[in-house]
Amino acid sequence: MTLQVGLTGGIGVGKTTVSKILSHLGVPTFNSDLCSKDILKKNIRVKKDIKKIFGNCVIDHSGEINKKELSCIVFSDKKKLQFLNNLIHPIVMQRYNKWLSTQKTNYIIKESALLFEAGVSSKLNKIILIKAPVSLRIKRVSERDKRTKKEIQNIIVNQIEPSHLYHKVDFVINNNGGLLTPKIIKLHNQLLNCF
Ligand code: ATP
Repeated sequence: MTLQVGLTGGIGVGKTTVSKILSHLGVPTFNSDLCSKDILKKNIRVKKDIKKIFGNCVIDHSGEINKKELSCIVFSDKKKLQFLNNLIHPIVMQRYNKWLSTQKTNYIIKESALLFEAGVSSKLNKIILIKAPVSLRIKRVSERDKRTKKEIQNIIVNQIEPSHLYHKVDFVINNNGGLLTPKIIKLHNQLLNCF
C-alpha cells in the first residue's frame, strides 16, 4: 500500500521547492494548488458559479478567472474563501484519488497550502509542515510573483499561524535560508523508515 504524506505550510514557505527535491529522490508528488488552478481555468461549472458569486470583477477580458483579483477577495473574507474551497475541493479530491490509485511507491506527497482548512489532514498517514520566517517569505514571494508586500501580508494573516499546527504534524522543516537539500534527504530517510 502506498502511504500518503501531506506537505503543507503558508504562502512562500517553500512547499513546491521541497516537493521538487523529493521528486528528484523518486517520490511522486501531487500539487493540490496547481490542480485547483487548473480547475479554475478549465472547469466550466466552477467558472460559472464563481462569476455568479463574486461578480464580473473576477473575470478578465478573455473570459478567464482573474486569479489575482479572486485571491485578493477571498484572502480578506474568510466566508468567501470557504465558499471557494467548498466549490473546488471536491474536484481536487476526485483527481487526487484517481492519481493515488495509480501510484506504486512506498509513499507519495500531497502538497497543499490548505491541508487543514480543507479538512483532509485526517486522511493522511503523515504530515510535514514547512515553515520560514515571514520576512523571508515576503521577499521570496514578491520576487517570484510581483505581488505587493501588503498583498502577501494579507494572505499570511488569513492563513493558519504555523505554531498552531505543530502538535498536529509529524515533521517540521525550517526553510530559513540554510541548506535545504540535506534536511529533505534526512526527512526522506525518516519517512522510508516509518513505513
Ligand atoms: P506558494 O504557497 O506561494 O505556492 P510555496 O510554499 O510552494 O509557495 P515555493 O514556491 O517553493 O513556496 O518558494 C517560494 C519562492 O522562494 C520560490 O521562488 C523559490 O524558488 C524560493 N525558495 C524557496 N525555498 C528556497 C531556499 N531554500 N533557497 C532559496 N530560494 C528558495
